[in-house]
Amino acid sequence: IWKATLTALQSQISRHDYDALLRSATLLSLDNGVARIGVSSPAQKEGLENRLLMPLRNALTRVVGYSVQVQVLIASPSLRPELLPASFNGSRFAAEPEPMIAESAAPAFAPGNGASERAVQLDLASAMRSGMLNPKYTFSSFIVGSSNRLAHAACLAVADNPGQAYNPLFLYGGVGLGKTHLLHAIGNRVLDRDPEINVLYVSSEKFTNDLINAIRRQQTEEFRMRYRNIDVLLIDDIQFIAGKDATQEEFFHTFNTLHSAAKHIVISSDRPPKAILTLEERLRSRFEWGLIVDVQPPDLETRTAILRAKAEQMSVHVPDEVIDFLAHKIQSNIRELEGSLNRVAAYAELNRLPITIDTATAALADLLGNQRRRRVSAEAILQVVSEHYGIEVEQLRARNRSRHVVVPRQVAMYLLREETESSLVDIGNLLGGRDHTTVMYGCEKIAEEINTDSHLRSEVMTIRERIQMMRGVSS
Ligand code: ADP
Ligand code: MG
Repeated sequence: IWKATLTALQSQISRHDYDALLRSATLLSLDNGVARIGVSSPAQKEGLENRLLMPLRNALTRVVGYSVQVQVLIASPSLRPELLPASFNGSRFAAEPEPMIAESAAPAFAPGNGASERAVQLDLASAMRSGMLNPKYTFSSFIVGSSNRLAHAACLAVADNPGQAYNPLFLYGGVGLGKTHLLHAIGNRVLDRDPEINVLYVSSEKFTNDLINAIRRQQTEEFRMRYRNIDVLLIDDIQFIAGKDATQEEFFHTFNTLHSAAKHIVISSDRPPKAILTLEERLRSRFEWGLIVDVQPPDLETRTAILRAKAEQMSVHVPDEVIDFLAHKIQSNIRELEGSLNRVAAYAELNRLPITIDTATAALADLLGNQRRRRVSAEAILQVVSEHYGIEVEQLRARNRSRHVVVPRQVAMYLLREETESSLVDIGNLLGGRDHTTVMYGCEKIAEEINTDSHLRSEVMTIRERIQMMRGVSS
């Protein structure tokens, strides 16, 4: 389990984090849905808890197939569960167990001359210079298919001519389709070609937090210097700054400074600029200056190629028919595709089974079951929505744009998005061949309006309850 979890995490977090925080950690025990992770120092415990708890939890959960809580304890790697005090077993939150372990185990791990601490600091410094790039996310580990060919080509062009080609480059697409991977790939390649170039990868959340901290500490000048001294800025998930006025303002200025100095800006988002409703107009128009490309869900061929590559990376032999089976079953996104492969491999290892279609079916039983049940309900949702509003399903599909149809149609989009696995494209097709950006806009609109419009909220809730009831009956 631990090996599979580490393998899964290795591709998700930076090498620095992996080496400093995870490599030496061990799984002490796993029972009652609680995983106890042993680490060797308070610093490692703090780092793990602050930075990697969620990824760790998610990875473990995916591997074992049920929800897992994580507890981090300071303990010797060789400390086995049977050596733990009795209070450890069973109850989920044994009262303050850490200090006991820490006392007995810490001396053996206290860094004697500080050498290892220095190594960690050096490593961190070099990681900071390279903007905390994940070395695994490169162009060579990125599988190109028709769904991402354009995005890949644009990113490669930017990496080879920073400051020139397509500036800004705006990448958008659904979750788990490789946007973050591509941003890192640009950064890694730029640095490979010229280590002197100042590259910064940052999520828009981190940008926001840095800004808030800078304002609080009255260090906005330093903040500006830091962000405006960059040659290549890779900013991930820009949709998070929508609606945050101060952040948008600051980003606008950062953008202008960098852009006018011919520095490169690459932006990712889960939707196109047009569909980010509360994005300031002047920012939106800036984003449209350069090139906007989307990343689509992978087609069958690409999914197959990705699964082959990942299996090889994990050094697990997965027969062709199993690859084929997974590629057919898991269509939503690449992260899920990776997750399902990890899960099948872990399940086979744990149960000492060969990797076959049967093994894969068993390992993914809940996942595949869900998909089937949910797919039934897409048409049913349209039915329920139209009944609720007293219109025909056909009107939801038609071109009619009068308000008494537009709202129900957007509610349908929203509920299809929330209640099924359908992609924006699927939903668009279901609704008379509408564009996926229209669908995204509709979903967003309802999602925002139910916060303020209590009438709409109760309508959506009522429809939702009916869907839940139908689901109960049909499953
Ligand atoms: P996003 O940022 O779009 O949500 P990520 O870049 O985080 O998606 O990708 C999710 C996972 O899928 C990552 O582990 C990434 O390495 C992998 N991945 C995505 N696209 C590809 C691809 N074309 N080839 C190989 N791996 C990919
Ligand atoms: Mg991402």
